[in-house]
Amino acid sequence: MNPNRPVPRHSVMEIEAYVPGKSGAPGAMKVYKLSSNETPLGPSPKAIAAFREAAGSLELYPDGSATRLRAAIGERHGLDPERIVCGNGSDDLLHLIASAFVGEGDEGVFTEHGFLVYRIAILAAGGVPVVVPETNLTADVDAILAAVTPRTKIVFIANPNNPTGTYLPLAEVKRLHAGLPSHVVLVLDHAYAEYVTREDYSNGLELATEYPNVVVTHTFSKIHGLASLRIGWAYGHPEVCDALNRIRGPFNVNGAALEAGIAAVGDVEHVNAAIAHNDRWRSWLETEIGKLGLKVTPSVGNFVLIHFPPTPGKSAGDADAFLSSRGLVLRRVTSYGLPNALRMTVGAEEPNRLVVQALADFVAGKA
Ligand SMILES: *Cc1c(COP(=O)(O)O)cnc(C)c1O
Repeated sequence: MNPNRPVPRHSVMEIEAYVPGKSGAPGAMKVYKLSSNETPLGPSPKAIAAFREAAGSLELYPDGSATRLRAAIGERHGLDPERIVCGNGSDDLLHLIASAFVGEGDEGVFTEHGFLVYRIAILAAGGVPVVVPETNLTADVDAILAAVTPRTKIVFIANPNNPTGTYLPLAEVKRLHAGLPSHVVLVLDHAYAEYVTREDYSNGLELATEYPNVVVTHTFSKIHGLASLRIGWAYGHPEVCDALNRIRGPFNVNGAALEAGIAAVGDVEHVNAAIAHNDRWRSWLETEIGKLGLKVTPSVGNFVLIHFPPTPGKSAGDADAFLSSRGLVLRRVTSYGLPNALRMTVGAEEPNRLVVQALADFVAGKA
């Protein structure tokens, strides 16, 4: 073949572009966006002040090695800053990790209802996505290990997972790691780790300290409320960090993001307030929605997965339309293999109550 135009690599054309959660509801008076797991508390006021301050020096290139931000993260979590790499959101890092370790035809493993960015990152690197079934909407360690072949280079796990809200206890993560060949990179995506208050959970940082093939990613988009600024960080072995530093954009985190991120990490009180708000309202939502006869998957994140019967008029699509007409924007998760469910971000009190009321009306068949 000698086409008379540029042709992208085959695997690139297999990618279906990521479709973010809706942000609007046409016709509704007031819109409550509960579709992208953003925090209802907003960022720390200190982060907002630091962002404003950064407006005074926009002509300057940022510190390309994010030295002060890495130091702040290291101090907060007791980590060596040399083993941290910052990114333009953790999406940036997920792509960098895949492109550093996955070559043409290599396999990358993730689970049935796993985060869609993994598929995109594997394909973009030229790799072959291998999707593993889950058990009870939860990653299944045995199934993942059974999918490993000599071509496997990477395994992505979101823990807790989005959009299911389920998690693997530390013992299961360790069992997964122990069963993987030592040259396979295990990526633990801990976007929601701060929200988890279970005793048998760990944010994975110890594992990545100990083993050269474990990389943990974190984000400022969720509990820190800085999704718009795009800041993520990865923690791993120095050789992994070295690889990521070679291929990342030299200024991949912008100056305003660096300043806001440093201020956000330091505001532990704000993070604790977000955890407390989430614990209270997530369990309220699970209870109240459960009372309506709708099944809710028990979640440890800042969102809940609500299941609907496939019955015409009662389905997830019908519920989505009904809620949208009241300005309540949830997330359809058909692209995650969950056509009969909607994902709802734990919001502020007002939208939480409005959703429960709207679902009660929907279930009762009221307009
Ligand atoms: C939201 C989310 C992220 C964060 O992405 P950013 O690029 O840091 O905004 C990463 N992983 C999962 C599973 C998420 O849900």
